Amino acid sequence: MSKVDAIRWFVGRQARNTRALLAEGIRLFPPLAGATLDVDDVRVVREALARRDDWAEGSTTARFEEEFSRWNGSRHAAAFLGGRVALSACVYALGLRPGDEVILPGYTCVVVANAFRFAGVVPVFADIELETYGLDAGSAARRITPRTRALLLHHLYGLVCRDYEALLDLARRHGLPVIEDCAQATGAVWQGEKVGNRGEMGFYSFEESKVMTTILGGMAVTGDDRLAARLREYQERAPTPAPERVESILRTALLDYYQLKHPKRWFFGDVAHLLHGKQRIVSTSQEEEQGTRPADYGQRMPSPIAALGRNQLAKVDRYNELRRQAALRWDRWCDEGGYRRPVVLEGSVPVFLRYPVMVSPEMKRDLSWAESSLGVSPGVWFTSPLHPAPSVVDDCPNADEAVRRCVNFPCLPGGT
Ligand SMILES: *Cc1c(COP(=O)(O)O)cnc(C)c1O
Repeated sequence: MSKVDAIRWFVGRQARNTRALLAEGIRLFPPLAGATLDVDDVRVVREALARRDDWAEGSTTARFEEEFSRWNGSRHAAAFLGGRVALSACVYALGLRPGDEVILPGYTCVVVANAFRFAGVVPVFADIELETYGLDAGSAARRITPRTRALLLHHLYGLVCRDYEALLDLARRHGLPVIEDCAQATGAVWQGEKVGNRGEMGFYSFEESKVMTTILGGMAVTGDDRLAARLREYQERAPTPAPERVESILRTALLDYYQLKHPKRWFFGDVAHLLHGKQRIVSTSQEEEQGTRPADYGQRMPSPIAALGRNQLAKVDRYNELRRQAALRWDRWCDEGGYRRPVVLEGSVPVFLRYPVMVSPEMKRDLSWAESSLGVSPGVWFTSPLHPAPSVVDDCPNADEAVRRCVNFPCLPGGT
């Protein structure tokens, strides 16, 4: 964009915002991404951008891993540039081989299936239940074959999954290692212990729409020393992202704060777009959606990104408490409107990354009802069984129904 075009764009945007302000007041919906970014994170990012000489040095990443493992109650933790990469490291650590089968929920992200496919492992999809949207133990049991080598369960929307114990039992009976996908449930607790520690391995995501964020980032954990050594092996071989990529990630954090969270984002969001917009990172490219392994896949987490992670981790408990309080509003909304609440297992403390509700397919297709009557723009995870890639899975009727009807409400307000 030339300077003149930039000014024209900015003036046009602000004129539109002013008209909206005069007509009805600008409506700022609570953000679905970047919701835990604050001024202190902006400070951390700006410091990192100013000190490029430190980018190659890994001690901040090691400290982040140490702090995360202590906070999470995990014996070992290894950071990567994405939850999907942390999962790939788990696949490597478990020694899964081409032709092996893994049981996965048929209601997940395409990048989860990809992490297995990139290693030649065959995903076999089982149905979910509609109480916590977790893997259904009965369906998983029916998918086990002599070639099954692992089982992946997930805790979606921050809820501890209904069949957690049943799935762990099922896997033990068949001698299968369990991977826990905690990408949406960082900090959720089951019987006094954070999720991710009951299976052989667990992983977490710090992508921009998750419980805490480094824009791109993830952590793999395990309680097993031998698996931890294999995780380290994968990590040591993982390339370091190029400085340009690190810079884009940091600038995306600034963009997210000013466009999604800042209380005057109708103004500062447009300024940030002019300053950093070209460098915005997207977490999943189209080629990755289609199942191609991107050239920059599988990287380690560099120190400037870990610095943001450490700052986020220090706030995550406070934010998760706010999320649980916000969920009470959606409980009341469900009760008043006759909608079914998501199930919170007795003995669990959820984190409510989002509050999932089944509405009619028409309501999922056109969300304006929520914008006008509730002042929120709901999320639509998932819009396909392997979100967001157009996909079908066989014989998973509950997953299909959730794709048609499940929307999710934000559980953190915008900046004030
Ligand atoms: C986001 C997400 C992932 C992948 O995490 P990334 O950090 O984006 O790679 C995996 N599983 C679930 C359920 C997710 O929501």
